[in-house]
Amino acid sequence: MWTGQDTLGAALGGETALPRNFLLRSLPQHELERLHPFLHRVTLTPRRVLQHAAVPIEHVYFLENGLISVLASADERSCVEVRLLGREAAVGSEALLGVNISPLRYFVQIGGSALRISVQDLNRASAEMPGLRAVLHSSLHDALMQSSQSAACSLSHALLQRLARWLLTAQDRSARDELPITQDLLARNLGVRRASVSEALQPLERGGIFVRERGLITILDRARLEQFACRCYRLMRPKLERPERAKTGRWPLFLLSLITLLEIEFLAQ
Ligand SMILES: [Zn+2]
Repeated sequence: MWTGQDTLGAALGGETALPRNFLLRSLPQHELERLHPFLHRVTLTPRRVLQHAAVPIEHVYFLENGLISVLASADERSCVEVRLLGREAAVGSEALLGVNISPLRYFVQIGGSALRISVQDLNRASAEMPGLRAVLHSSLHDALMQSSQSAACSLSHALLQRLARWLLTAQDRSARDELPITQDLLARNLGVRRASVSEALQPLERGGIFVRERGLITILDRARLEQFACRCYRLMRPKLERPERAKTGRWPLFLLSLITLLEIEFLAQ
């Protein structure tokens, strides 16, 4: 029988508010109460690697705020961003599939905090908690969906569309009005030259859609920015809702994933 340890006070400081992570927020109350003692809050320092590639996964991180880039290795010296994670996600949840070493790297783009749990404790908890299993499986499905759509986007959409999609996604997932992102980082995330990013940003900035100041990008007009973004933005938007409501959309999401994979196959030919 899996039983909790009394570390709740240390982890959550006696908070009574809803969890900031949307996976935890989706859990039935009794499961959340049983899980709390195993969660420890950690600070996510910007520009640090949260989980290295090819290193055993020891912890799963339920993100509360901040922004994580998931990076796939393109060659020995460079990486490509395959998806962005924020408060709707957990880093390292693939460990639940029995994968304890991943080729992916998790890089902290924007600092924040997360609730950390050991893989061992999470495995024991998920064996006894159907609600927890459901939200983590849903999260793994989202990861597959995002990675597939990201590949389709890189192959088929223009830089300006991808840039608009990236800024909107970063704001949604980090829940920040000001994004501490430089042109260098944007270029690296999108896999293009810095000069290309600079050129693409200019019409958006001149149109008053965002302002840049001291390394911060502040989006002023989301509605107009959405007009520039490709359809991938809507397809990759996080579902910030309870799994009971999400279940009704499972078949359409499955079909969407299948269509996306077929689209990538077609584009790659
Ligand atoms: Zn796209």
